[in-house]
Amino acid sequence: MLQRLLVLGSTGSVGDSILDVVARHPDRFLVHGLSAHRRVDKLYQQCLRFRPAIALVTEPQHAIELQAHLLAAGLATEVLCGEDALCEAARACDYDTLVAAIVGAAGLLPTLGAAQAGKKILLANKEALVMSGALFMDTVAQGNATVIPLDSEHNAIFQCLQGCAGDRDGVERLILTASGGPFRTRSLESLAGVTPDQACAHPNWSMGRKISVDCATLMNKGLEVIEAHWLFNLPAQRIQALIHPQSVVHSMVVMRDQSVLAQLGNPDMRMPVAHALAYPQRIESGVEPLDLTRLAGLTFEHPDVQRFPCLGLALQVLAEGGQASAALNAANEVAVEAFLGRRIRFTHIAQVVEQTLQRIDLPGHAGLEAILGLDHQARQLAREQVRVCGAQA
Ligand code: NDP
Ligand code: MG
Repeated sequence: MLQRLLVLGSTGSVGDSILDVVARHPDRFLVHGLSAHRRVDKLYQQCLRFRPAIALVTEPQHAIELQAHLLAAGLATEVLCGEDALCEAARACDYDTLVAAIVGAAGLLPTLGAAQAGKKILLANKEALVMSGALFMDTVAQGNATVIPLDSEHNAIFQCLQGCAGDRDGVERLILTASGGPFRTRSLESLAGVTPDQACAHPNWSMGRKISVDCATLMNKGLEVIEAHWLFNLPAQRIQALIHPQSVVHSMVVMRDQSVLAQLGNPDMRMPVAHALAYPQRIESGVEPLDLTRLAGLTFEHPDVQRFPCLGLALQVLAEGGQASAALNAANEVAVEAFLGRRIRFTHIAQVVEQTLQRIDLPGHAGLEAILGLDHQARQLAREQVRVCGAQA
C-alpha cells in the first residue's frame, strides 16, 4: 500500500529532505499534496516532478498563475489557496500522512486539523507545538493521531526511547544536544555586530533562515526543550540541553540504571525523515555513512545562558508552567524577522523577547482562542519593542 503524503512547506529545507527521500522510494510513497508560500516557481517544479492531486499556496494571484501553468503542462493538479484551504486539506480523508514543515505559527491550524482527523503527523514545525502544548497533545490523543518527530533531536530521543520497551518509569532524563551554532565561541560584545548571513551560516546543518537564526541565539534549543516536554511528557527538570559542536550525537536518553542511549549519524535531515516516513520499518535515506574512525572526538559542554539569553528565557517560560510559550514564540518570530531584515541587531532578539514576556497579559485558560490571542498580543508588543531597539541601533 502506498503511503499518501500531504507535505505542507514542501518548498523549504525540510521539504527538500522529504522529497529527496520520497523520490528514492516510489514504491512506498505517493505525494498527494504540496504547499508553498513565496517560492511558487519551486512549487511548480515540484508539481511537475511529483504530480500531486493538490497544490496549496497562500496568495490568490499565485494560485491563478500556478493553475494556468500546470494546466498548460498537462497536469490535473488542483491549486487551492489560503489558510482555510490548508486546514481543509489537512482534515480531508484522501491522504494518510501530514508532513508539518511550514515554519512558524502559520503551521499551527493545519497541523491541529490533521491531529483532529487522526492522521500520522511527521512534525518539523516545532513552533506549532510550542505555541499550543497541552492543546496540541490533547488533540492528538482525542483524534487518535500519531506524531513522529522530524526534529533531529526529538527523532533521536523517539528512537532511543524504544530502548525502554514502554517502561516510561525507566527513563530518568533526556539530553538534547545542540551544536552551539556559528557564534559558539564568540564574546558577548562581538555578537552585537554580527550580520544575518553570518547568523545563518550554520557550521553543521543547512536549514531555513529562521531556524538558522534560532540556532545562533540558542532559542532553537529552548523551543526544543519545550517541544520535548510536550512530546515525551517529562518535566523541565528532567530535560537537559548540552552543547555538542560535532552534531554527531543527535540526542540521548538516560535510563534509571544510568544506561545512556544515544542516536548517532551524520547531520543530514534525510535520516530522521527516512525514519519517520517508514516507521517502524527502516529504509535507505541517501545519508553518507558515519565513519567513526574519522571523528576527531565527541565533546559536550554546558550552554552559556549569559551569552545566549534566549535559551534562559525559554527555560524560564517552561519552568513557570509554559503558559507564556505562545508569547515567547511569537516575540521570537517577530524579532528574528526584524533581525533578518536588518532592522535590529542580533543581541536585540533576546531583548525583544524578554520585554514582550514582561509586558504580556497571560490568559486564564489555554484554549485555541486564548493561544491565538496571546500570539497576536505578543506580536504587537514585540513590534513596538523592535521599533525601540531599531531606534537605538
Ligand atoms: P524554510 O524557511 O526552509 O521553509 C519553510 C516552509 O514554510 C516553506 O515551504 C515556506 O514556503 C513555508 N511557509 C513560510 N511561511 C508560510 C506561511 N505564512 N504560510 C504557509 N507556508 C509558509 O524552513 P525549514 O524547512 O528550515 O523549517 C521548517 C520547519 O521545520 C520549522 O518549523 C523549523 O523549525 C523546523 N525544522 C527544520 C529543520 C531543518 O533542518 N531545516 C530541522 C528541524 C526542524 P516558501 O518557501 O514557498 O516561502
Ligand atoms: Mg533540532
